[in-house]
Amino acid sequence: MFIVNTNNPAQTERFGAFLSRCLPLNAVVALSGQLGSGKTTLVKGIAKGMGIKPEEVNSPSFVLMREYPGKDRTLFHCDLYRLEGVFQIAFLGLEDYFSRNGVLVIEWAQKAAALLPQEYLRININVRGELKRRLKCRAQGKSYQKIIERLKVEYGELRIKQYKRKFQITNSK
Ligand code: ADP
Ligand code: MG
Repeated sequence: MFIVNTNNPAQTERFGAFLSRCLPLNAVVALSGQLGSGKTTLVKGIAKGMGIKPEEVNSPSFVLMREYPGKDRTLFHCDLYRLEGVFQIAFLGLEDYFSRNGVLVIEWAQKAAALLPQEYLRININVRGELKRRLKCRAQGKSYQKIIERLKVEYGELRIKQYKRKFQITNSK
């Protein structure tokens, strides 16, 4: 598991953008967390990282699946919030999006647990304060375990760089 704590929406978006660059082709990202926890905010970040305008992304509650063509792959975004029961969700045909040369991000993915592919990245967002969120990233399957390991190292390094820049710390040899 990899845990990211964010202190504001912009940080969540930035993590999303970073994450998008670590995702393989045909990645599936399953998001869970209460209403207002920041799932769509994270998707906006993923979009940004893929070269899509984040403001174009919003909760696709009425349109079940949204497609956003990115720089070199497409973002498929769906929100299962309003769907009830496995039959309604099965009707969406999620599996059609598992291999469309893109990234599939599903909000309220726990509703479709039985319909997800064998391997995917699970992210649960917890509200810890007005602006504080905890994102718990878990791998389902071996290839996503590798992504978790990569995130731990590379996102950690990025945060250290940002911290140093903020406090103007320079490495002295
Ligand atoms: P969801 O899709 O889970 O319902 P949204 O992303 O639509 O959630 O909304 C999250 C709300 O919480 C937004 O109003 C956002 O500004 C706010 N927020 C506050 N702090 C954070 C944070 N650290 N990360 C993400 N969103 C945050
Ligand atoms: Mg949402």
